[in-house]
Amino acid sequence: MTTTAPHAAESTPSAPVAPVAVSAADVLEWTSLLIEGVVPLSDRALVDVLGALEQLKAAACAAQAQAAVDLDVMERDRQAFAGIPAQRRGLGVGSQVGLARRESPYRGRVLLGAAKVWATEMPHTFRALRHGRLSEYQAIQLVQETACLEREDRAEIDALLCADLASLDGLGTRRLVALVRQHAARLDPAAVVKRARKAESERCVTLRPAPDSMTYLTALLPVAQGVAAFAALCRAADLAAAVGDQRGDDAMVSPAAPRSRGQVMADTLVERLTGQVRADEVPVTINLVISDSALLGSGHEAGHLSGGGVIPAQVARELAAAGIATDAAWLRRLYADPGGNLVAMTSRSRFHPDGLAEFLRIRDQSICRTPYCGAPIRHIDHIARAGSGGETSAANGEGLCVQCNLVKEAPGWKREQVDVTRSSGRSEARHVVETHTPTGHRYVSGSPAAPLPAPHPESSCASDPEDAREAVGFASVVDISFRALVAEHELLVA
Ligand SMILES: [Zn+2]
Repeated sequence: MTTTAPHAAESTPSAPVAPVAVSAADVLEWTSLLIEGVVPLSDRALVDVLGALEQLKAAACAAQAQAAVDLDVMERDRQAFAGIPAQRRGLGVGSQVGLARRESPYRGRVLLGAAKVWATEMPHTFRALRHGRLSEYQAIQLVQETACLEREDRAEIDALLCADLASLDGLGTRRLVALVRQHAARLDPAAVVKRARKAESERCVTLRPAPDSMTYLTALLPVAQGVAAFAALCRAADLAAAVGDQRGDDAMVSPAAPRSRGQVMADTLVERLTGQVRADEVPVTINLVISDSALLGSGHEAGHLSGGGVIPAQVARELAAAGIATDAAWLRRLYADPGGNLVAMTSRSRFHPDGLAEFLRIRDQSICRTPYCGAPIRHIDHIARAGSGGETSAANGEGLCVQCNLVKEAPGWKREQVDVTRSSGRSEARHVVETHTPTGHRYVSGSPAAPLPAPHPESSCASDPEDAREAVGFASVVDISFRALVAEHELLVA
C-alpha cells in the first residue's frame, strides 16, 4: 500500500466508479500491517503518516459506502424475487450495515441513507470523501443539511462546495455547514422555512446516562420555547440569590454553602416537572436492580437503574433510603445463578405474561438485545416464534426495540437462543441470542450481567444440582415492600 503526498491520484466525479476491486482478505492484510505499528523514522515522517492514515480512513468510509449501496441493490433484488411488495423492500439492509460496522441499526440506516445520496445525487461530495478531502462526518453533514432541497439545488451545492477539492483544504466542519446553509437559504428559502416547521413537529424529550451517576434530560424545543424555559429557570436562580438561598441553609441538604446558580436551576426544573416540593425527594420506583449485600450491607457491587444505567452501591442505597423515607420503596427478589443469569423473580404474577415481560426487561436492562443497538425495549418477543413451537419462557424471550422487532420478520433473518454451557467458564455464559442475517453472517448478544454479590472464595460452581442451588445468589429489584425484606433478614435500619 503506497500513498503519494499530499493526496492520492484523484479521479473526476463524472468518471464511472470502478467496482470495489478489493476483498475483505486484502483489507485484513493491510490491517495487520497497521497493527504492526508505525516506525518512528522522523518527526516529519510521523506527521506524514498521521495525514496519510486520515486519508485512508476517509477512503475506507467511501469504500464502505459503495459496498452498502451495492448490498442495498442486491438485497432489494432478492426481496423482489421473494415477492416482497416494492414499498417494503430494503427492510433490514441498514441493520446489516450497522451490524457489520459494529454500529446500532439506527446508525446503520443513517450511513446507508447517506451513501445512497452520495452515489446518486452528490458525486463531488463522494469523490471528496474517497480522496480524503472530507471526513465521513462532514460528508454526512452535507447530506443532512441539503435534505430539504430539490435534487437540482442539492446538486448545485454539491458542485459549488466540493467540485474543487483544493477548496476544501482548511475548511472546518462548522464553516462547511454554514456555507451549505447560506447556499440553501439562497437557492430555496421556502424549503428552509418548511424544514424549520417540520423540525418543530419533531420536538421531544430524551434521557441518557451521563458520567458519575448523573443523567442528561434533554428537550429538543422550538427556539422561542427553549429560550422561554431557560429564562424561567434563570429567574428562579436570580430570585434565590436575591432572597438568600434558604435551601442552602438547610442542614439536611448542605450544612454550609448555599446552592450554586446551576443547582437552583436544576432543582427548580425537577420540582416544576414532577410537582414535588423538593427535587431530592425523588421516590424510588421500579427497576433499581442491586445485589442484596450491596443494598442491605456494605457491599460495593454496582446497581443498575432502568433508564439511568449503572450506579454505585452507595448511590443506590441512598436512593432506596430516600424511597423508604417517603414510603415509596418496594423490593422484589430476583434469583440469579453463579454465572450471573437471572433465573426467576418472586412475584404474584410470576407466571403471568406481564410478570415475565417485566422480568425480561430487567434482565436485558431495558436495552434492545440486538448487538450494538442502544434503543429502549419496546417489545417483548419470542426468540423462536410461538407459531413454530417456541415456548413462552424467560429463555425464549428477549426485549427488542421497534425497528429490530420489525427487521427480524424480514426474509432471511433469524434469531435463536444459544446454549452456552456454564462449565465453559466463559464470561458470556449468560442468556445468549444469535442473530442470523440474510447474507449468512451471525452476531452474538449475551444478556448483561446481573448485579450480584462478589462470590466467596470457597463457593465455586458446583456440579451437584443441590450444591448449585446453594450457590445461587440473588439480586433485588426495588419495588415491593422494602420493610418485609428487612424483617426477613432480621436487619435493623437506623
Ligand atoms: Zn434494536
